[in-house]
Amino acid sequence: MAEKMQQYIEEAEEALLHTYNRYQIVLDRGEGVYLYDLEGKRYLDFAAGIAVFSLGYGDPEFTGALKAQIDKLTHTSNYYYNVPAIEAAKKLKAVSGMDRVFFTNSGAEAIEGAIKAARKYAWLKDGCTGHEIIAMNHSFHGRTMGALSVTGTPKYREPFEPGIGHVKFADLNDFDSVLSCVTPKTCAILLEPVQGEGGLMPATEAFLKQIRALCDEKDILLILDEIQCGMGRTGYMFAWQRYGVKPDIMTVAKGVGCGVPVGAFLMTEKVGQHSLAAGDHGTTYGGNPLACAAVDKVLELFEKYDLIRHVKEVSAYLEEKLDRLISEFDCILSRRGAGLMQGLVFDRPVAPVINEALSRGLILINAGPEILRLVPPLIITKENVDEMIAILKDSITAGI
Ligand SMILES: *Cc1c(COP(=O)(O)O)cnc(C)c1O
Repeated sequence: MAEKMQQYIEEAEEALLHTYNRYQIVLDRGEGVYLYDLEGKRYLDFAAGIAVFSLGYGDPEFTGALKAQIDKLTHTSNYYYNVPAIEAAKKLKAVSGMDRVFFTNSGAEAIEGAIKAARKYAWLKDGCTGHEIIAMNHSFHGRTMGALSVTGTPKYREPFEPGIGHVKFADLNDFDSVLSCVTPKTCAILLEPVQGEGGLMPATEAFLKQIRALCDEKDILLILDEIQCGMGRTGYMFAWQRYGVKPDIMTVAKGVGCGVPVGAFLMTEKVGQHSLAAGDHGTTYGGNPLACAAVDKVLELFEKYDLIRHVKEVSAYLEEKLDRLISEFDCILSRRGAGLMQGLVFDRPVAPVINEALSRGLILINAGPEILRLVPPLIITKENVDEMIAILKDSITAGI
C-alpha cells in the first residue's frame, strides 16, 4: 500500500499543474474529525480542508441530503427556480440579517460579485467609472483577477499585474491609514473581520466601529469577507456579529458548503435595490440544487446541533490549552485568532512541526511561514483538543 501511495504521488506530479507543494500523503476517506490515507493511517484533522468541514466528515444527515438530491436533480441553470436554492437563501438571510443572496461556486467568485455590486452602486450614483476600493494589507480574498487585485499580499499579486486597478491598501486596526486612502472616488472598504491566510489577526471592535461610521458618513459600502471566519468558526455565526458591525455586502464560502463547492455574496436591501440588476451578473452552476441542498442542510444542522454554543465552549478550552503550551515552549511567541480559528506565532518556520505532526497522525496547516493555523471541524470535542495538544507537543520537541 505504501508503494501504491507513492505511485499515485508520482502520477499526480506528472499530471497536475505544480501550483502546490503538497504534503506526501494521499487522503482517501473521512469519518467524524478523522481522515484516513490510502494506507489506512488515521489522522486527527485540525485543518478541515482549510476551514471547510464544519460538520466533520460523513455526518449521515448531511450526506443523506446530498445523496437524495443527486437522485432527484443536481442542476437547472438560473433560468428557472429550484427549491433548495430558495430554502438555502431563506436560511442564510435569517442567520445573517442580510436581505439578498447570490450563490457562487467559490469564495473568489463571491468576492468578484461583491466588487461588481460595489462598483455598480457607485456608478448608479454619479454615472462615472474609476471608483476605488480600500482593502487591507495582509488580506486574502482569492486567486481570480478581481479578488487578487484586492489581496494585500504583494507576492500573490505582482506577477499578474495589472489587476483591476483603483485599489488602495491600508493597515488593519489602523483607522488613520484607512482614512488617508479615502477619496471622493472611494466606493467600498473591504476587510476580513479575522484575517485568515494573512495570519489570524482579528479586527478590533473600535476599528470596525470607526470603519462603519466612516462608511455611513460617506455612503461607502462596507464589504466584510466572512469566507474563512464566518459560519460559526469564531463562536458567532458571522464574526461581525460579535460587535454588531453589520456590513452592506458580505461574502461566504468554505464552511457554508461543508465540502461541496459553493459560496455566496449577500447584501442589504438598499444595495440590492441599487446595484446589480437583471443582466448584470450571472453564473451557470452557481445556486444549483446540489450545492444549495448542502447549504440548506448545513444551516439546518447548525441549529440542530447547537454548534455555535459548542464552538464557544470548546474554543475556550482550546485557548486555555494553547496558552499553556506557549508558556512551555520558548519558540512560540503568541496566540492570535478567535474561536476555532487560532494561530500560534513561532519565532521560526513551522514547516518541520507540521511534518512531524503529520507523521504522528495530526493534520495541521500554516498561515505564512511562521504561524501554525488551527481550524478544526467545529464538532471537535475537548478530548480531541487534548489529543491534538499531546501530538503537537511531541511534534514541536522533535521538529524544532
Ligand atoms: C479561501 C478564502 C477566499 C477564497 O475562496 P476560494 O473558494 O478559494 O476561491 C477568499 N477570502 C478568504 C478570507 C478566504 O479565506
